[in-house]
Amino acid sequence: MISSGGKELSKRVLHYATSLRGTKQFWFKQRSRLISMIDCLSMPTVFFTHSAADNQWPELACLIAENPDESSSRSSAVNNNPAIADWFFYERISKFMKTFYVDVLGATDYWFRFEWQHRGSPHVHGVAWLHNAPDIEQLLSSDDSAELLDAAERITAYVYGLVSTMNPGIPADGNNIINSIPLPKIKPHVCNQQYQGINNLEMDLVDLVATCQRHTRCSTSYCLKRKRGKQECRFGYPKPLQQVTTITTQEGEPVVLTSRNDNLLNAYNPVQLSAWRANVDMQYIVSRNKVIKYVAKYATKSEPRSKGLQEVYSTIMKSIKEDATPLKVVQKLLTSTIGERDFSAQETCHLLLMLPLFRASRDFVVLSLDGSRQVTETFEEDKSVTVDSQLDHYCARPDVPEFREVSLLKFVQKYRIPKKIGSALVPRNKDVIVIPRPYCSPDPQGPQYEQYSKQKLMLHKPFVQLDSYLEDVTHMQLLMLLFFSLVMCQNLLLMIFTG
Ligand SMILES: [Zn+2]
Repeated sequence: MISSGGKELSKRVLHYATSLRGTKQFWFKQRSRLISMIDCLSMPTVFFTHSAADNQWPELACLIAENPDESSSRSSAVNNNPAIADWFFYERISKFMKTFYVDVLGATDYWFRFEWQHRGSPHVHGVAWLHNAPDIEQLLSSDDSAELLDAAERITAYVYGLVSTMNPGIPADGNNIINSIPLPKIKPHVCNQQYQGINNLEMDLVDLVATCQRHTRCSTSYCLKRKRGKQECRFGYPKPLQQVTTITTQEGEPVVLTSRNDNLLNAYNPVQLSAWRANVDMQYIVSRNKVIKYVAKYATKSEPRSKGLQEVYSTIMKSIKEDATPLKVVQKLLTSTIGERDFSAQETCHLLLMLPLFRASRDFVVLSLDGSRQVTETFEEDKSVTVDSQLDHYCARPDVPEFREVSLLKFVQKYRIPKKIGSALVPRNKDVIVIPRPYCSPDPQGPQYEQYSKQKLMLHKPFVQLDSYLEDVTHMQLLMLLFFSLVMCQNLLLMIFTG
């Protein structure tokens, strides 16, 4: 029984694993949410990374170390207090999002995730949408060469003020000899100083760059990968020096090369590094392709050795007894998927403290477009066993000008859904990110394209009668014609008419 319905069973269990924090399925769900966020808010402006200097940070040492001024006392305190060290990092980055990204850089939105590697300290990867950032996609789409030149100037000037790959410790005469690069400041450690107590910010930045921002050691266990028959650093170090910040194209993609006087330097923003006081990274986002790659590679990847459920399922089925109950299989499936990798002490504490694994500046709402409704948790006689869906609430919206012309997408983005149909609609504080379901591929040649187009219509063209969307095909075709005439090409128009 188990083997015949096994694939179906594991698929169903897979759905529940999306709620098990840290599993591959959990990160798949977050990936689709982040991509919806990018679809909805347009391209983010920067990628960022923040690591921990938990053995150095004086604010943490004051909380846990017997002797905060002594390096060995600080590191043993971090080892003995992983819960506090992890909580401190969580609080530090959460506050930093507000004080630096929102208040200094003018971020309107952000998304970031926590990750633990190596000796077990946390770091975050994320993206931020910055106010007043030039719209690179729109600027570079011009056919006019003078406009393009102007666009390139605007973009490079913006990036120059945001991201640096200049080592401030190297004399400005262009004499980039290795002896002139300042040495790391480790006794006392530069990260062991409080930002508020620093008198000379310029000298401090020189020390921070020398200590935290240089990729001085490539190793096979970390960054060296075999490529084209030889060992290469996967981050591309050492990088070529660059006189001025320019924009160019490589393999059809725009690339911004920031001015660089140190071939081992990791990009940073000076205020970000000065205030964070540990290794950071900041990259300007140049294309949608790059951001999608980044999301898959860093932002939402599951930890190594975390297998997918299907894979775990096959392994389990080989070892399980013939007469095992379905419950046993489900239990094994779920426990295996969370137990398939190593957890650091700080990550374990993070999970036990129920701290979030990611943070986003927006809430996400799943919008079912196929007419399905959620089943109620409490069954009462003579009452419906399903809850009114957002679609039901939309169709029953007040017949007043304010709501008549509002699309389904805007309705869900902007209003909280009340418990009962007919109750007053309360606007949300911030628009939510809407995730339409079921997912349909936008590929014009694919089998789901008609369904995809239907979903787009439902989302953007105001309507009242749901039936007209779900059943009335003739009406549907007319509306599709309207939609395609606005956004799609002529070939597709012909296809709809003739097909
Ligand atoms: Zn390397």
